[in-house]
Amino acid sequence: MTVIDTHGAAAERRRRGPRFGSNFMAVLEVSRDLVCLCEDGIILDINSAGIDLLAAKDSSALVGRTFCDLVGGDYVQVLEELLLLNEIESQAIPVAVRGLNGATLDVELQIHPARELGAGHAVVIARDISRQGHLARTARASEDRFRVLVEKSMHLIAQCHGGRVVYINDAGAAMLGALRAAELQGMAVADMFHGDYREIFASDLTMLLSEEGMMPVRMADRDGDAFDAQILVTPLPSVGSVPEYMIEARDISDHLRAVAALRHMNETLEHQVAERTRELAEERSKAVEARLFVESLLEAVPNPLWWKGIDGQYRGYNRAFREMHAIGAEEWIGRTMGELLDPDFVKTSHAADLQALGADKRVQFEGRLTLADGLAHDVVVSKIAWRSRADQPEGVIGVMMDITERKAMEAELRRLATTDALTGVFNRRYFMTTLGTEVERVHRHPRPLSALMLDIDHFKRINDTFGHPVGDKAIKAMADACTDAIRTVDALGRLGGEEFAILLPDTDLEAAMMVAERIRVAVSRICINTGIGDVVFTASIGVAQLIEADVSAEALLSRADAALYTAKNSGRNRVVAA
Ligand code: GH3
Ligand code: MG
Ligand code: MG
Repeated sequence: MTVIDTHGAAAERRRRGPRFGSNFMAVLEVSRDLVCLCEDGIILDINSAGIDLLAAKDSSALVGRTFCDLVGGDYVQVLEELLLLNEIESQAIPVAVRGLNGATLDVELQIHPARELGAGHAVVIARDISRQGHLARTARASEDRFRVLVEKSMHLIAQCHGGRVVYINDAGAAMLGALRAAELQGMAVADMFHGDYREIFASDLTMLLSEEGMMPVRMADRDGDAFDAQILVTPLPSVGSVPEYMIEARDISDHLRAVAALRHMNETLEHQVAERTRELAEERSKAVEARLFVESLLEAVPNPLWWKGIDGQYRGYNRAFREMHAIGAEEWIGRTMGELLDPDFVKTSHAADLQALGADKRVQFEGRLTLADGLAHDVVVSKIAWRSRADQPEGVIGVMMDITERKAMEAELRRLATTDALTGVFNRRYFMTTLGTEVERVHRHPRPLSALMLDIDHFKRINDTFGHPVGDKAIKAMADACTDAIRTVDALGRLGGEEFAILLPDTDLEAAMMVAERIRVAVSRICINTGIGDVVFTASIGVAQLIEADVSAEALLSRADAALYTAKNSGRNRVVAA
């Protein structure tokens, strides 16, 4: 306890504290502070403000209690000593008191000895400072929060006084290459910067302080290595002429590197995009070119060409196709051949479509088709499935070739190869082939079969008298007479000169004899008019029926020939059986 040596009554009173009269409690009833009278630390009386403060119903709830029971914490010991007046404390003591409802509140406690009221008497005054306490705590808390924020900040934060750093946080120390923040306290603010920045800030601090907002700068770490940063300088309220301010700095070298990388990437990307765009345009023009070429190619193909979808609908066709059917460019698109072409042709063509779609190969068929010219054309159609993807056919491509002329030529060639030019009947070779086939067939399935050998009598004379062309007419007339006399199943051949042979299937010797006789009569009635007189002639005929001994066609003919020889020798113009 400080004992101050003062003089005078006022000083003495201050030293000894207030003196209480017996009615002091009534007087202090008006006080807003808790006032109570204690004896040896036990409450004797308490005012209304005290009753309220301690959340009691009335004074009886408090009188008789030990005051120290209402005080918590470390102060109990000290307070006991003071209340027992073993010690005197003139200063107010901050303590927490606990009300009867359990709530604690901060109070400032003053204990005045009141021996004039009785031995061990003390007056206790408690002033509620819980409200001020709350404000103080809040202030402390926000200060703590601020400190934490600064210390934990990822950026450099330095508090500066004039040209010196008075505080720097850990992040700032790390940024500047120091192990501990304390190492940097007191460093020159300008030393945080690099090159020109350092020179400028060292010579003129206002250059640093006048800048409002973010400022990009070059900073330097303790080794002098530069890095890019962005700083914000905030003036702090300062006492006196020396400026107080805060520097916040952010290392943006990574950021700049990232920006540079991004810019580079963008440029590369832009380049790639431009390149790709150019490629695409090129590809597109190439594709257009290719399409135009294919279209021209298709148009140029002289054969009708078309393509259909899997549904059988025409999707496209070329010029030759349009001309063949005399249709417009779009006329058949979306239509099917069933409504457009000959039913017989459609049937064959449809089967070919299915076959082409089913098997991955070319399908070909021949058919007859009535076209726009109203004529039936012989055509060869070639079909193949087309596909845009490997697995699934999309439809059928068809190409047509008109083979009407070829067919006619083939027929003509066949005719030339098998017939005699003068008479139009089978030539020797084809007649012998036909006879051979027939003989073989009859050997397998026995049926009667007969052959005639015919020869014009004294033909030489006709040639000699009327000339060779008249002789030819006679030969032709002879052939016609034979043709008229026989059935369609029979075959007539000119074996050479004015010599003919006839094959009569399903005909026995007797019936063959009758045919021969009929021919003989018919020939004898032939009359060829010439400028120098009419030509009449006769023929001799030998007849033979196939017997088992005739192993070949030649054998049969040879027997018929023998019969013919007999006919010639026995006077001509007659029929003789073998
Ligand atoms: P025969 O009654 O014995 O049969 O007497 P022929 O005069 O008919 O005798 P032959 O059969 O030997 O005579 C055939 C003649 O037919 C000989 C040849 O000049 C003639 N000849 C052969 N081929 C042709 C022909 O294509 N045209 C004409 N005009 N005469 C032909
Ligand atoms: Mg002859
Ligand atoms: Mg003759």
